[in-house]
Formats: sequence, C-alpha cells, structure tokens
Amino acid sequence: NAGLGSWPERRRRISPDRDALWFEGVTTSHREFSDRVRRVAGALAGLGVRPGDRVAWLGLNHPAALETLYACGQLGAVWVPVNARFTASEAAYVIGHSGASVVVHGRDHGTVADELRSTTSVRTWVTAEPPLAGGEGSLPYEELLTDPEPRDARVTLEDPCLIMYTSGTTGRPKGAVLTHGNMTWACMSQILGFDFAQDERTLAVAPLFHIGGLNGTVNPTLLRGGCAVIVRSFDAAGLLALIEEQRINSFFGVPTMLDALSREPGFRARDLSTLRTVAAAGAPLPAETLRTWLDRGITVQQAYGMTESAPAGTVLDAGDAVAKVGSAGRPQFFTDVRVVRPDGTEAAPGEIGEVVLQGPNIMAGYWNEPDRTAEVLVDGWYHSGDAGSVDSDGFLYIRDRYKDMYISGGENVYPAEVESALRDLPDVEEAAVIGVPDERWGEVGVAFVVVAPGSAADEDTVRAALRARLAGFKVPRRIRFVDALPKTATGKIRKPDLRKDVSV
Ligand code: AMP
Ligand code: MG
Repeated sequence: NAGLGSWPERRRRISPDRDALWFEGVTTSHREFSDRVRRVAGALAGLGVRPGDRVAWLGLNHPAALETLYACGQLGAVWVPVNARFTASEAAYVIGHSGASVVVHGRDHGTVADELRSTTSVRTWVTAEPPLAGGEGSLPYEELLTDPEPRDARVTLEDPCLIMYTSGTTGRPKGAVLTHGNMTWACMSQILGFDFAQDERTLAVAPLFHIGGLNGTVNPTLLRGGCAVIVRSFDAAGLLALIEEQRINSFFGVPTMLDALSREPGFRARDLSTLRTVAAAGAPLPAETLRTWLDRGITVQQAYGMTESAPAGTVLDAGDAVAKVGSAGRPQFFTDVRVVRPDGTEAAPGEIGEVVLQGPNIMAGYWNEPDRTAEVLVDGWYHSGDAGSVDSDGFLYIRDRYKDMYISGGENVYPAEVESALRDLPDVEEAAVIGVPDERWGEVGVAFVVVAPGSAADEDTVRAALRARLAGFKVPRRIRFVDALPKTATGKIRKPDLRKDVSV
C-alpha cells in the first residue's frame, strides 16, 4: 500500500509512542491511532466495503473523521466528507452523487441520518457517538471495532483517496477526486513550506470536511509524526485557552476565525508563545487582522489554494508577510502557478489574468463529470476562475474572480445555487444574488427578488423558506424586493448595476 492508508502503519514503526491525536481530554499515541484505524478498516470491510467503494463522513470535527479517512485508505475505498452545515437535502445530493454505501455520522446528525435513511440508497448508517437526537437506525461505531488485524490492499498513488465536494458556478456541487498521490504531494508541500516539526502540535479547528481544515496542517502533521488537537467546532474563547493549555504550535484558519480570535480578551491574556505557524486562506486576510496578530508577536501567513489542489497553491513566507502584505505568496514546493491571458500565454508582471495551477497535487477530475472536468483541467493546468497578477519578484496577488462566487466566513457561496433555490419558491418570479463586503464575514449575500403577482411574501418568509433548503451560510443576509432586475439586451442580469448602490 503506497497510499495514505499506510501512513499510520509507518508511524507505528517509527514513532509509536508519540502523541497523534488529542480530543476532549483523551490523548491517542501513533500506535493507538494505527490500531484504531486497523479496527475501523476491519469494521468497514465487515460492512461490505470493497476497494473503490465510497464511505461518507458527515459530522463536525471528531477523531472518527480521520479514522474513517485512513481506514478507507487501507481498504482502497474512497472517503467522502460531507459539509456538516448542509441541510438534509444538500447532504442527500452529495451522498447520492458519490454513491456512498456506508455513512458514518457524528452525534449532531442523528436526525439527518433518519431523514436520509429512506431517501438515499445508503446501505448502512453508523454513528460515531451516541446521537444527541434521532439516529436510532444507526449502528454504534465503537461496537464495530472488534477486528485488530492489519490489512494491506494494493493501493497506488493514482488511486482515488477521497472525493471532496465543492460548489460550482452552475447547479450542484461537484466532487473533486483527490488521489493518494495528490494527498501525498500536497502534504509534503505543506511540511516543506511551513517546516512542521516531528513533535508538532497542531489544531484541527477548521472543518475537516474542507481541504484547508484537512490538509492545511492536520494531515501534514500526522505524516510528520506530530499531534492533531481536534476541536469539534469553533469557539474563540475556548480555542485561545486550548492553545495555551495544549502548547499549540500551528493551525490553519479562515480570516473570519482569526479576526474573531483577536477580539477576545484571551487574545492578550493567554500565553500564545508556542504558536509558530498560523496559516490563513480561503479568502484574503484583511491587513488590519494581520496587524493585530503582528502586534501580538505572531505572523499570520496568507496562503491561497483550493479543493482541487488539495489545497497547495501559494504561501507567503513569514519573512515576507509585512513587505508583501496583500500577496498570497509564492508557489508551494511541488506546485507551479501561473497567471495567463485568455489565449493561454503568460501574463506580464503586474498584468491581471486567470490563475492556473499544475502539479502532482492537482485533482484527477470531478467524480462522474467529464464535461465539468474538461472545463477546468486544460493541458494539465487547473483553471481556478480567480483573477490574479504576479509581481516582478514572483509574488501572487489575487485581485478578483471570474467565477460568480463570494466567500462568507470562509464558506464559498455560488449565487447561481441560491438564485435557483429562490426561483423554486412559488412567491418568487426572478432573483439575483450578489456578495457585498462585510466586516465580520468578509462578504455576505444580498438577494434582489421580483415577487410573483399577488404574492404577500416578505423578507422573513422568504428567508425562512430558503433556510429549509440551503445551509445557513448560503441564505442571503438581506432580501430586497424590486419591481424588475436590470438586464442586458440579451436578457442577462447586470450584476455590476446591482452592486453599485448596495449597502447592507
Ligand atoms: P475551496 O475550493 O472551497 O477551497 O475554494 C477555493 C477558492 O477560494 C479559490 O479558488 C479562491 O476563489 C478562494 N480563495 C482561496 N484562498 C484565497 C486567498 N488567499 N485570497 C482570495 N481568495 C482565495
Ligand atoms: Mg471550490
């Protein structure tokens, strides 16, 4: 087994007694972690999981997320993390599209499991912990972990390791297939770029169902032999206390998180002297947030990447953080990054073009979507849909987006998806959604809605109807009722016109 599933076995040989995980007061050594992974692999095999089969994880951060990932790697099965914030119908799409036969869920997803039991073709539901509500039909994970035998599937670096769904500019999310090779090279890039130590203590606080949370620091740290301190979900005051108590060296966070941390009294009061690496990506880090952390003696390193690059793209070295503020840095070790013109030629320094990436970390393609794959993978280069420029020293600046998307608290929102959910409401005739700047969330959504004749819909009823269909972060902050939407001669909505006079 050349894949990620072999990592715990290799660690068991090299550093069995060092800490691998910490979760809610319980420390697990690398030997114990590898033992757990073997047992989870045994359990999944016992449930009929064969090489190539998909196993979904639906939950907040929890050791079972990593155990199921590595266990799938040992079986040659494919791990499918599902956004824990999704509504049942959003989760059903991802689970159904991936064709997962087994879903392991966390304690918060018992009722979702019950709801999906009859509407998806999932064979077996397993609950990692006693559910807080519902989940009566889910098998208890711990009771399945009876087979301690190691197993060794023939897994190559070209085999799929996981499918991570990411929203698209049109319609439904698409599943980026990341191979064992993608995972290996992305994690190696992170280790080289951030210089993770063999006794690294990192936080798993960003969601493990997103690539930054999974591969930003967590998997690279486990590969390196260090320890991932797992935090179920973000709480600023608690996190600062934990950084002090657990002597944390590194973590990955989205700008909204870093901003929230800096506003806590604990940001000054706690001992944060062990922190060496704080990486921020997913959205631009406001210069003010960077300054607040610098005042505290901590450099936040801006990085840029995406699900499709697992997510190694570019990173700004700590030494350049001030001189090159606003830059996303230079390409990571195994990644080539270019800015190109529409004709494919490389842009001159300072010239804005599309950011494209190449390397052994770039996804194999989108699961069962050859057309959507062909749109973004051209001659081996992944076309990001981001507009950027490179300065004469080779530093990348992300300037804008060609794709219609905005980022709210680190979660990407594709207006097309929200607009289609709006149009599905009987009260709504037409709708357009844009992202506008917001101090706390980076950006938030504003919807412009033309209601159907005779409709008595108001902001509250429309938002409530949307909330039943879409994850909370996709529901626009404001809904504006208008008589008509501005359009071009060909009938396309003119979003720049909508942006002109919006304030939230
Ligand atoms: P995801 O696949 O969900 O991780 O989203 C990737 C997208 O997030 C990129 O294509 C960018 O549009 C955006 N993004 C990531 N990092 C940055 C950054 N440092 N600055 C601006 N946008 C970013
Ligand atoms: Mg994406």
